[in-house]
Amino acid sequence: MDLTTPLTYIKGVGPARAAMLGAKGLVTVEDLLGYVPFRYEDRSNVKTIAQLAPGEMATVIAEVRAAKLSGFRRRNLGLFEARFTDASRAILVGKWFHGGYLANVLGDGMKVALYGKVEFDSYAGDLTMLHPEFEILSGDDDDGEASLHVGRLVPIYEAVSKLTTRVLRVLTHRVFESLPPEEDFLPQYLRDRLKMPDRWTAIRQTHFPPPDTDLRLLNAFRSPAQFRLIFEEFFWLECGVALKRSKARTLPGIAFELNDRVREQIKAMLPFKPTDAQKRVLREIAEDMKEPRPMNRLLQGDVGSGKTIVAAEAAVIAIENGYQVAILAPTEILATQHGLYFKQILSKLGYVTLLLTGSFTGREKAQLKKLVAEGLAHVVIGTHALLEKDVEFKRLGLAIVDEQHRFGVLQRLGLVQKGVHPDVLVMTATPIPRTLAMTLYGDLDVSIIDQLPPGRKPIKTKHYTADRIEQAYSFLKSQIDEGRQAYVVYPVIEESETQAVKAAQKMYEHLSQEVFPQIPVGLMHGRLGADEKEAVMQRFKDGAIQILVSTTVIEVGVDVPNATVMVVEQAERFGLAQMHQLRGRVGRGAAQSYCILVTEKMNDAARERIRTLVESTDGFYISEMDLKLRGPGEFFGTKQSGLPSLRVANILRDGEILDVARRDAVDFIAHPPSEAELRRAVGYIRDHWQRRYGLVTVG
Ligand code: ADP
Ligand code: MG
Repeated sequence: MDLTTPLTYIKGVGPARAAMLGAKGLVTVEDLLGYVPFRYEDRSNVKTIAQLAPGEMATVIAEVRAAKLSGFRRRNLGLFEARFTDASRAILVGKWFHGGYLANVLGDGMKVALYGKVEFDSYAGDLTMLHPEFEILSGDDDDGEASLHVGRLVPIYEAVSKLTTRVLRVLTHRVFESLPPEEDFLPQYLRDRLKMPDRWTAIRQTHFPPPDTDLRLLNAFRSPAQFRLIFEEFFWLECGVALKRSKARTLPGIAFELNDRVREQIKAMLPFKPTDAQKRVLREIAEDMKEPRPMNRLLQGDVGSGKTIVAAEAAVIAIENGYQVAILAPTEILATQHGLYFKQILSKLGYVTLLLTGSFTGREKAQLKKLVAEGLAHVVIGTHALLEKDVEFKRLGLAIVDEQHRFGVLQRLGLVQKGVHPDVLVMTATPIPRTLAMTLYGDLDVSIIDQLPPGRKPIKTKHYTADRIEQAYSFLKSQIDEGRQAYVVYPVIEESETQAVKAAQKMYEHLSQEVFPQIPVGLMHGRLGADEKEAVMQRFKDGAIQILVSTTVIEVGVDVPNATVMVVEQAERFGLAQMHQLRGRVGRGAAQSYCILVTEKMNDAARERIRTLVESTDGFYISEMDLKLRGPGEFFGTKQSGLPSLRVANILRDGEILDVARRDAVDFIAHPPSEAELRRAVGYIRDHWQRRYGLVTVG
């Protein structure tokens, strides 16, 4: 057996269990060892029931005395109560609401370990635990392994489908029995300095901690063994980032020239005076473009800070040097809008701008592609269609990715590969906590626009419950009467775009015929053809449409400065980042703008999201809240970030370890103890970590 052995080779894993494990991404022995306990219990000398004190979290080992289901008889309803006792002969009552299913699980005489908060029911005079976690100890599905589950520090695993913590504990233990120790690749000087156990010991002790391990440290994920695994995961990740970064720096690139003529052209193109922040980031970009190596730069700036014009300035530099520019946008509406905008500002200079999206016909696309291949188009703006294989550039010099967070690493790469080491500028409004930025975008240099264009007033955000929708509408009407425009947005329910479109359509009819019969209302959604979308957008821009009812297709990038009201219906269904983006569609001119969040039914998380938005317009604060509320797993939905899920480490919990690991990784790559040691590390990253972290260009 080695790390790559499929789990089906372990005794006790048949096809059904393998399928359950596989669905969680657990396929090989290595995967199973990476599935670490989320909690530990000290069952070495557990308290007796008589020793329990109300208020404490405790583990007891006890026998079921009497179990009964009361209340509703329907499945999963009612209250399930079980009385437990142990050698102390005291009684503990476990209670489970909706516990009907337990009637077939907990039977008289069974021995179980219970973990939960001890409470005292003064009415009945009983010690109780409400919804304790429990583990049946009198099972017979393990042979001679019963000692794994009691009389020691016991690892608790998150159940995998029907595989309980107990089953996972046994399987993991079986792996350790037949797996030879693994080689340790972490540089020796780091192991010495941080006094870390070797890798093999660390893995074993994370799953089965030795008896003298401090339980508090274990449950805080700070035992030496856990620290080592967390550190290691971050270390290799950061080494990968550092390698990628240093490699990118040695590639030959284009040394663009920035002379007076180019400066004149930029001046002639600018429709307004740039802010100081815009000037500063352009200087940073221009300096980078002059270097004879490819630029890899992230332009970060909150929604509405004016990133587009900076991209246009960079484009002028490239075009004046005889190169083409590609701009990738995540939605057709944004691509279309950029198409119109760039056409307008660049035609003054005699440049040709093309738009290429998925909804052109095959023939149209073929014609457009020909223009691009022959170098007759200077700027090509498009959606994913731009990434198709047969889109070839004659001389691509600058690749720009707008709303970068909506694309994966591979897509960025796909665009870049259409040129010979072109300069790359990626733009995003989604700020992320600093530690994360350095990892996620560790291979990029960062420019930040930290200033809004002059005359902007902070957007006022209000929350209405759906029963007060009339008030929201009459406020909207008062803004329209003042000559402003508004958006009304409906959530796209992922399972069914069709239904969302229907809902928006119905709302459109309701608003245009009943609520605002005097006002021109328009409808926008993802199912419209490209021409229709463009026409609707144009009419909204021109003011022919005053209220635009839409699904979230307008979430990013759309820019109509006269729009001052954003109404988000069923706001409880939207994520924080998404609502911040939607809100960013208003407040783009000098007039006071408003965002109205209308909610129907809210749970606690939704309430927190709404509160955050009403309180703050600071993108950094909002993204930090977003990360906290959703947790790193979801925050970094693979596509969003390019940072796939970590196994042992947790970015929220382990931020300080990440900082240490990053410093050590950068130092190791820059000054490896020996050439051989560096080669060994690069090989190890390539074999073990590259695919997982998408560090595709390493080594
Ligand atoms: P984002 O950073 O969200 O992409 P945009 O580039 O769309 O922002 O700019 C938002 C709005 O602000 C646009 O209408 C743009 O024309 C305007 N704008 C940007 N910079 C300035 C400036 N320096 N002065 C005046 N208006 C500006
Ligand atoms: Mg933008």
